[in-house]
Amino acid sequence: MLTRLASPTHEEVYRVEDHASGLRGFIALHSTRLGPAAGGLRMRVYEGDDAALEDVLNLSRGMSYKNAAAGLPLGGGKAVILGDPARDKTPALLRAMGRAINMLQGRYWTAEDMGMSPEDMAELARETRFVAGLDCGAHASGDPSPVTARGVLGAMRAGAAQLWGTDTLSGRHVAVQGLGHVGWHLCHLLHEAGAKLSVADMNPAHADSTVREFGATMVDPRTIHAVDADIFAPCAIGGVLNSRSIPEIGAKMICGAANNQLATPEDAERLRARSILYLPDYVANGGGIINVAAEILRISPRAPWVEERLGAMQARMAHILTRATGEDLSPATLADRMVEEQLLQVAV
Ligand code: NAD
Repeated sequence: MLTRLASPTHEEVYRVEDHASGLRGFIALHSTRLGPAAGGLRMRVYEGDDAALEDVLNLSRGMSYKNAAAGLPLGGGKAVILGDPARDKTPALLRAMGRAINMLQGRYWTAEDMGMSPEDMAELARETRFVAGLDCGAHASGDPSPVTARGVLGAMRAGAAQLWGTDTLSGRHVAVQGLGHVGWHLCHLLHEAGAKLSVADMNPAHADSTVREFGATMVDPRTIHAVDADIFAPCAIGGVLNSRSIPEIGAKMICGAANNQLATPEDAERLRARSILYLPDYVANGGGIINVAAEILRISPRAPWVEERLGAMQARMAHILTRATGEDLSPATLADRMVEEQLLQVAV
C-alpha cells in the first residue's frame, strides 16, 4: 500500500495505492524537526502522478514553514488523493487512506483540505487516530475559518502599526477578495472594528450577504485588487500577486488568508519596489492550524491556549515587519529566513 520514494528535500515521501478501492495518492513528510508532521489531505483532479507529487512536496514544505511560524511543536506534512471528489470519493477509498496514514504511526497527522469535509475526516478516523478537524469528540476543533480570520485581523493590526503608527483599523478602507469561510468572518471582524469594506467574489450570493450585513461596496472580481484602498486582503485563491496584478494594486498594504499569494518569489520584490507592504501569507493565516493543533496536541482548555498563540502570532508579524525594514529585505524573505534559522537550531 505504501511505497517509499527517494527524496533529496523531504524526510519521507510515499506513493499510496490501494487497488480494491481505487486509491491513488501521495503522502509527504517534509520535516519532523519540531514535532509530528501536520497538514491537510487534499483531493483533486491532477494532470498525472508528477503533478500530484509536485503539489504534495510543495504543500508539505509550506506546512513546515507555517507551523514553525505559528510557534507550534509540529512539523510539515501533506497528503493528496488523485481524483474528482464529487465522483471518485467513496468510504472505501477514504478508509484505505486512513490505513495508510495509520501505518506512519503518528509521524504524520492529517486534517481537512480542498475536496474534504469533516464527515470525510470522521471516515478516516475509523482507521486511524492521527486525524484532526473533527466535528465532534473530546478535543474536536471544528471549522478553523473564524480563528483564521482572527489571525488575519491581528496581522493587519501589526501591519497598520508599522505603516501608520497605530494599530486601529477604524476608518481604514479594506478591499476583500473572496468571501467564503474566512473572507466572510474577516469582513465581520473588520466591520466591528469600524473599517470600510469593498468586496468581491466570483459567487455574487457571497458578496450580496456582506453588502447587506456589513454595508460593504460590491466590486467586480476582476478589479478588486486595483481598488484605491488602504489594505488589500486576498482570501480566495493563490497566485493573485503576480507581474500583471502588482502594477495595478491600489492598496498600501496586502494582508489576507489565501495560501501562496505570491505567484513567484520575485513578486515580493516587485511589491517592495512599489512600496507596498506585503505581510507573508503563511504567517498571517496560521490561525487555522493553531486551531487544529489544539486538537492534535489534545489541549484542554483550548480557548486560552489558542488565544495566547494568536497573540504570539501577531507579535511575530510585528517583529518580522520591523526586522525586514531594518535589514532592507522584503517581509516574505525575512520570514523564510527566520523559519530556516529556527529549524536549523533544533537538533535532529
Ligand atoms: P472558501 O472556498 O470557503 O472561499 C473562497 C471564496 O473565494 C469563495 O466564495 C469563492 O467563490 C471565491 N473566489 C474564488 N475565486 C475567486 C476570484 N478569482 N475572485 C474572487 N473570489 C473568488 O475558502 P476559505 O476556507 O475561505 O479559504 C480562503 C483562502 O484561505 C484559501 O486560499 C485557503 O487555502 C486559505 N486558508 C484558509 C484557511 C481556513 O481556515 N479556511 C486557513 C488558512 C488558509
